[in-house]
Parts: sequence; C-alpha cells; structure tokens
Amino acid sequence: MKRMQTVVIGGGSGGLAFAQRAAQYGREVVVIEGGRLGGTCVNVGCVPKKVMWYAAELAHALEDAASYGFEVTVGDHDWAKLKQGRDAYIERLNGIYAKNLASRGVTHVAGWARLTGPTVVEVGDESWHAEHVVLASGCEPGFPDLPGTELGITSDGFFELPERPRRVAVVGAGYVAVELAGVFRALGSKVDLFVRGDTPLRRFDPLLSSVLVECMRADGIVVRPHSALTGLKGEPGAITVGLQDGQNKGPYDAVVWAVGRVPRTAGLGLDTAGVMTDADGFVTTDLYQATNVSGVFALGDVTGRVALTPVAIAAGRRLADRLYGGQPGRCLDYENVPTVIFTHPPIGTIGMTEAEARAEHGDEQVHVYTTRFTPMYHALTPRRVPAAMKLVTVGADERIVGCHVIGDGADEMLQGFAVAIRMGATKRDFDDTVAIHPTSAEEMVTLK
Ligand code: NDP
Repeated sequence: MKRMQTVVIGGGSGGLAFAQRAAQYGREVVVIEGGRLGGTCVNVGCVPKKVMWYAAELAHALEDAASYGFEVTVGDHDWAKLKQGRDAYIERLNGIYAKNLASRGVTHVAGWARLTGPTVVEVGDESWHAEHVVLASGCEPGFPDLPGTELGITSDGFFELPERPRRVAVVGAGYVAVELAGVFRALGSKVDLFVRGDTPLRRFDPLLSSVLVECMRADGIVVRPHSALTGLKGEPGAITVGLQDGQNKGPYDAVVWAVGRVPRTAGLGLDTAGVMTDADGFVTTDLYQATNVSGVFALGDVTGRVALTPVAIAAGRRLADRLYGGQPGRCLDYENVPTVIFTHPPIGTIGMTEAEARAEHGDEQVHVYTTRFTPMYHALTPRRVPAAMKLVTVGADERIVGCHVIGDGADEMLQGFAVAIRMGATKRDFDDTVAIHPTSAEEMVTLK
C-alpha cells in the first residue's frame, strides 16, 4: 500500500477544483475517476445541455427572423449533426481536463474507488493510505419505482439520443424536466410534460413558474399538472404512460424521467469506513465539508446540498484553502446562491421567495416589487414572449433578500445583481443605479 497525502474520489467539478487547488498548495494528490473527467457537468449536464439550449434558442430566433426582414426558409433540424458537434466539443474538454491535471502535477487514476478503511482507498489492485480523503462522487439520475420504469430514459439517455424523437413525454417538475421539455419542443418534438403537483418548479417563486408555464404552453408544450404516473407500458418507440386517474397517454417515442438525482455511493465502501449518510443516502457533512470520520471530507452533489457545479467548485476550493492554504475559517456560505434555469425564456433567481421572506420576517417587514413587460425584441415579432421580475425586500431599509427574473437575458443578467445582493444591497441602491437603456435589465433598477 502506498502513502499519499490526499486522495480525491471523483473527477467532476468539485473533485477537480479541490485537487487542483490542493496541488497549487504543494500537496501530492491522486484523483480517481471511473468515468470521463469533468463528471456530470461536462459530460451529461450543464455543458452539453447548454449546447442544446443554444440550438433551441436559435430555433426560436429563426421563427422571428422574418419579422426582422430576413427571407429564411427553415428546413428540418439535423439532430445527429448537432449531437456530433456537441460530442466532439465534450471530447475536447475531456482532453483539456486531463492536461490541466497533468500540468498541475495531479495524478489521475482511471477506475472506481472503494474505501477499505477510514482513509484507505483501493482501486483494482492499487491502494493508498491517505492523510485526507475527499469524496466527490456526485449523483446520478433516479428512476421511479414503477412498472415499466426501464422503458424510460433519464437525462443521461437524452444525451445519447441519436435522433430527435417525434413524440416525447417528460416526467418531473424540476430543472431537468423544464429544460429538456423546452429543448425537445424548440427542435420540433411534440412534448407532454407530466407534473404530479400543481406546477413545475414548485420550490421557486410562483411568479417564475406561472410565467414559465404560460410560455411553455404558448410554445406548444402540453403541460399536464396533477398527473402522477402509475407506470409505463409498450416498447421502445411506442410507450404508453399510465396515470393515477386511470387515463393512458401516448404512444410516445421516448419517455424521459426527470424526477431528481440520487447520490452515487454504491460500492464506495462508506459502511466499511464508517462514513455517515442521511436518510436519502447523501454523505453528511458539517459547515467545513468534514464527514464524521476524521480525515474524510465530502463535497458537491454527493452531500445533498445545493446541487450546482459552481457550488461544488467553490466548496472544493475553500476546503483546499482551509486544509492547506492557511485559511482556517474558510468555508462555503450556502446562502444566496444564484442559479439559472435554461428554459425559453430563461430564469435567473437568488435568495428567498416571497413566501419564504414572509414566513421568516413577517408580512409587515416584507415589501415586494414586481413587473411584467414584453421585451423590445418582441415588439416586432408575432411571438410575444413576456419577461417578469420580482424583488423581495425586508425591513425599513428594504434590504433585498430575493430577486427573481424570467425573460430573455435573465441568464446573463443575474450574476451582477447577485454580487450586489450578497453585499447587502437595498432597494435604494438599486434605485440610485443609473439604468442601461434599452435593455430588459434596466427594469430591475426602475421598479416602482
Ligand atoms: P429536481 O430535484 O430539481 O426536480 C425533480 C422534481 O421532480 C422533484 O422536485 C419533484 O417535484 C418531481 N418528482 C420527484 N419524483 C417524482 C415522481 N416520481 N413523479 C413525478 N415527479 C417527481 O431534480 P432534477 O433532476 O431536475 O435536477 C437535479 C438538480 O440538478 C437540480 O436540483 C439542480 O440543483 C441541478 N441542475 C441544475 C441545472 C442548472 O443549473 N440549470 C440544470 C439541471 C439540473 P414535485 O415534488 O414538485 O413533483
């Protein structure tokens, strides 16, 4: 058995960020990854999804082109060509990730790791006794426990689709469900979105979900609330969806499960090492990413906290700063994390929903500013895609505790506002900022 200063299990966003920062501090680091470097984000998440989102945005722009005087004849969309370009791009990124590790002196071991003791890690016939072990093995898409579940695919399967399915059922109500439904529809599929509750994005401010559902319906997505499934029947290419109210829908060429993600811990040896997990199997960590086992840390999606790439990266870098960079109190503040949902139009959101603010601060302390408008781009187009914004403020100085935007440009708009909100901006600060005209973002500093 070799001795190693630090072993990282998982070469995704969090694991790589930690490993590279640790190596910069002079640590000897091994990263063990059984799949492709880059993890979910690079291979089957954010990056290829954003490529698909760009394609979908382009499809919408082509619809609008005639209104701006272009004579455009739009032919069929070549899904296979798009996939080929996307896959080649991802492969280039995998190579860049490998080079980055090598250039920083991090050892990359290809394989699936297993803990055989608190800080002992084994891969095949190699094993290391490490001072520190960092678990960053991520999550994978879940399948519901229903008859015929295997007839459906998940977001992983979405990225393998060789061609566009003509009729698609998307089941779920979170980020993945609404993002994939939007891509399929824009690229020409008939889409039914099955939501078991009242609305998709139930955990977000209702302004966002209500405007999104309106936009989805205007685009031709059939949003089906109160549609819990009993199972799937049929065969690939002709799948029927059974609903709890007794109805059957379909047939569909593809059914996509988008019902959440589960921690990837099977075979990791957490029991052997004595690492605690919660009721859903996520690794339990404290403020400092420490598990209950001395020398073992965890970060990213496997911890069940805010499952976003930049959160995993931030947690990883801060952990390395704390352990090896002489910054003893350094840890990630999981509050006020901005996030974007790549729908059409996109959503950007940070902080509390209106209901959360009222519950925490009381109705009297909360003042809310809302607007809805049609962005200028759509002044000329028959498509009238709305934008809507909400600022949630608390106290006499109207400190902004929530900012919610849906509309073209929301994805790029939110980052700057997030900095201001983290710094404690008040409504007055927003009002005192001169607007940039003509933009949608200017509405944020002119809210009445
Ligand atoms: P989410 O947890 O966001 O959403 C899944 C939702 O599906 C649940 O909240 C639930 O909503 C619904 N659901 C659960 N089980 C069932 C079921 N059996 N039948 C029908 N509906 C069900 O998971 P996602 O997989 O969409 O995304 C995982 C995480 O990945 C996200 O939370 C996000 O952190 C990250 N992500 C980020 C993206 C981005 O930054 N743009 C993009 C994609 C993912 P309800 O209870 O309301 O029915």
